[in-house]
Amino acid sequence: SPIVVWFRDDLRLDDNPALAAAVGEGRPVVALYVLDESKDGPRALGGASRWWLNLSLKALARDLDKIGVPLVLRKGPAVKTVPAVLSEAGAGNIVWNRRYDAPGIAIDKELKSSLREDGFVAESFNGALLAEPWDVLNGEGLPYRVFSPFFRAMNARGAPAQPQDFKAPSERLPEAPSLEGEEIDDLLPLPSRPDWAGGLRDTWTPGEAGARKRLEAFLDDRLCRYAAQRDMPGEDATSLLSPHLRFGEISPRRIWYAAGDRTAAQDEISDKQLDKFRSELGWREFSYHLLFHFPDIGHANFQPRFDDFPWRKDKKQFRIWTKGQTGYPLVDAGMRELWHTGYMHNRVRMVVASFLIKHLMIDWREGEAWFWDTLVDADPANNTASWQWVAGSGADAAPYFRIFNPTSQGEKFDPDGTYVRRWVPELAEMPASHIYKPHEAPREMLEKAGVRLGDTYPRPMVEHAKARQRALDAFQTIKNAS
Ligand code: FAD
Repeated sequence: SPIVVWFRDDLRLDDNPALAAAVGEGRPVVALYVLDESKDGPRALGGASRWWLNLSLKALARDLDKIGVPLVLRKGPAVKTVPAVLSEAGAGNIVWNRRYDAPGIAIDKELKSSLREDGFVAESFNGALLAEPWDVLNGEGLPYRVFSPFFRAMNARGAPAQPQDFKAPSERLPEAPSLEGEEIDDLLPLPSRPDWAGGLRDTWTPGEAGARKRLEAFLDDRLCRYAAQRDMPGEDATSLLSPHLRFGEISPRRIWYAAGDRTAAQDEISDKQLDKFRSELGWREFSYHLLFHFPDIGHANFQPRFDDFPWRKDKKQFRIWTKGQTGYPLVDAGMRELWHTGYMHNRVRMVVASFLIKHLMIDWREGEAWFWDTLVDADPANNTASWQWVAGSGADAAPYFRIFNPTSQGEKFDPDGTYVRRWVPELAEMPASHIYKPHEAPREMLEKAGVRLGDTYPRPMVEHAKARQRALDAFQTIKNAS
């Protein structure tokens, strides 16, 4: 009888343990994707993620078709849809790769036990992580709350499992039963009026082939300078693999080993570059470790004292932030990069998040939700863990009182202003000396650069020193609470 492979955040053929297990049997295989938007389902996807998923599913359907596996799309709830598909297909087995968010785990557990009770064989695999969260525990058998000991412990367990190449079946698989399904464009319509996705299309190629291209480009040109330049948004030194990882179009094991092999093969790539890059993959693991062991981190402060923080409600200021009109060039460049491409450089993410939380004193959850809607890599683990990290409310977080100065951050990490010139064209003609502080520039300089403050480019919406003090004072009110 046929085997069903239930695809979720693992939209690839390569190093996909569930798919490999199914195809290896030589029986008919049906691939299934369920968009579960029910109340108890995983968090509803944001707009940019839905755009990505549409194209990624199309790419997956094409790749699966080449090996004779149809991809069937259905609407959830998964707890109902999955058993229905199994019975329609006359299938006795189902396989999937695990997920780690609480609603996803609850659904998978329920399904596994009910399917097994009904006589089906249901098996799950690790397709998403270098190490399972329950395998990396401290001496007392507890989860880690601090990154460094977590990463040491992860590495002390030995090297991650080797990625497995996809082995196409030697003979065409027996024909799978044909099942009804939704059309991708009906299930996840692409934006049309307005079509806001032009910048996304120009920037990304969702799907497994696009992921492999990004990996190769990173290994060829960026890994050799990663440690020195990963913090510099004007240098284009990072891998841009995050949305591909988010949707599982490439596995972290594949990336981990490809970077290791390239470092061994190429003299100009030092171990320092490799170690730095692998430790960033380690941060992703740590976020998943936290999400698994502390499932509330998506909505609740990891440190409960932040529950009493005097957040400000200010729709108008929030909107100015989302539009990239704050008057702080690094913040504005980042927010516009996000809107245009669905991505933002990591250093800039830290600065814009800090600005919202500290300079504007707006709850980190509002910023997190905006990122969730607009990022193509919006990730249930990384997004919440990172926002809480910046807020100071998280596990192993930056202390709240560390308040980024958006001007000096720009001067330090983008000294010639390349990044700002790219995203804030109205400042493109400003000399580097003042591109991060146009409000302090002499009048003649502004005139020469064609900048009219308050007209072509806004004045700072809050004054840094005052805003900083206000945030510190607010923090005092919760500082000593447990
Ligand atoms: P590279 O530097 O090439 O790193 C390789 C991979 O390592 C990344 O693709 C990512 O999977 C992982 N990684 C790198 N940095 C981090 C980090 N700080 N934390 C966790 N994993 C990391 N990342 C997301 O994938 N999804 C999100 O929704 C997300 N939201 C964020 C929100 C805020 C406020 C901040 C400060 C960071 C957020 N990050 C998020 C982490 C980080 O900014 C991105 O992973 C990174 O910018 C992706 O670019 P890259 O693929 O070129 O990274």
